[in-house]
Amino acid sequence: MEKMIYLDNSATTKPSEASLQKMQEALRICYGNPGSVHQAGIDAHKLLEEARRQIAASFGLRRATDGQILFCSCGTEANNQAIFGTVYAKNRPEKNGSRGKILITEGEHPSVENAAARLEADGFTIHRIPTKGGALDLDDLEQAVDDSVILAAMMLVNNETGALYPIRAAAEIIRRKSPAAHIHCDAVQGYMRVPFTPASLGVDTLSVSAHKIYAPKGAAALYVSQDTIRRKRITPILYGGGQEGGLRSGTENVPAIAAFGAAAREGMLEADTRAKKVSSLHDFLIGNLSGLVQINKPECGADAIVNITLPNIKSEVMLRALSAKGICVSAGSACSARAKKVSRSLLAFGLSEREADCSLRISLSYQNTEEELAVFCDALEQELHRLARMR
Ligand code: PLP
Repeated sequence: MEKMIYLDNSATTKPSEASLQKMQEALRICYGNPGSVHQAGIDAHKLLEEARRQIAASFGLRRATDGQILFCSCGTEANNQAIFGTVYAKNRPEKNGSRGKILITEGEHPSVENAAARLEADGFTIHRIPTKGGALDLDDLEQAVDDSVILAAMMLVNNETGALYPIRAAAEIIRRKSPAAHIHCDAVQGYMRVPFTPASLGVDTLSVSAHKIYAPKGAAALYVSQDTIRRKRITPILYGGGQEGGLRSGTENVPAIAAFGAAAREGMLEADTRAKKVSSLHDFLIGNLSGLVQINKPECGADAIVNITLPNIKSEVMLRALSAKGICVSAGSACSARAKKVSRSLLAFGLSEREADCSLRISLSYQNTEEELAVFCDALEQELHRLARMR
């Protein structure tokens, strides 16, 4: 097969050389347990803390009082920790038939949507804020917020449509109407793709994942504000040896975390060049796709994600045809692709079930080239004609 063209960078990214080198160093030299007090442990602990500083710097944190970074295994775990950890930090007895209201957006990643569904079964009320056309409905949010809201968990960038939500504006509404509510942001798709800090978004917790920023799989970070810790508004979901300030027990995955830190550092240094490259690739792609397929462009979006709907060709059929030509795109988020459910995000965006079933996500990286996109667009056009003839 010819060289693979990888256009599924929202599912995962190709680790950079810097992150792989750092991982090798941790695996070969600093293999001690960071909790051990001997030299091997001290060396591993140093790597862990170096990565923590690198992630903290990427969040604009300068002092320890600006908040804490806790490491865990993946974005899914970070979201679960934020959601269950804050909801169960306090005793929440039932009042007027509900244990409290939780706000999420319509079309959250399953790690938030399914966690919320679990809490719904436990007696909490879930309100999903509409996201039609990729716009977060702030009027609906305003109406929905009252002092029964205990948690809002909202994504920064939608993983399927690329829609970029105004988290700061949403957080301001929530703070004004329900000051005690905890605000969590799933920034997994936004991290290193759009500029932000937890402070600029005005949130209490925020999750990011290593494998989406050119580091290997196996590490993620949860930012927790100092206020959340001071007021004991978060509790662990994993109990054990008390690692990560007691919030996430279990020996840290030092090689993956060290690689994560290196990737974050590299991403910060190269932020402008990468953003310019992805923006120009995005424009090139849109230019080539216009007139060929329906482009599901959000009102405000991240350049890295382009969602399209094919004319009456199921995404799965096209995905396999492109894969046979060495081109990797996606029919939705990687974790739900195998579940074969119609995407909630796309329905919330305003697509019909049929359209959602015929949609593809192309997600870009600074590592892609215009030549690759041109090959992809040619292959897509050929397959559109071939598959249409077969119908
Ligand atoms: N949140 C969003 C928006 C995502 O896109 C993903 C993964 O695709 C996750 C959370 C989960 O991250 P992880 O794959 O690290 O569990």
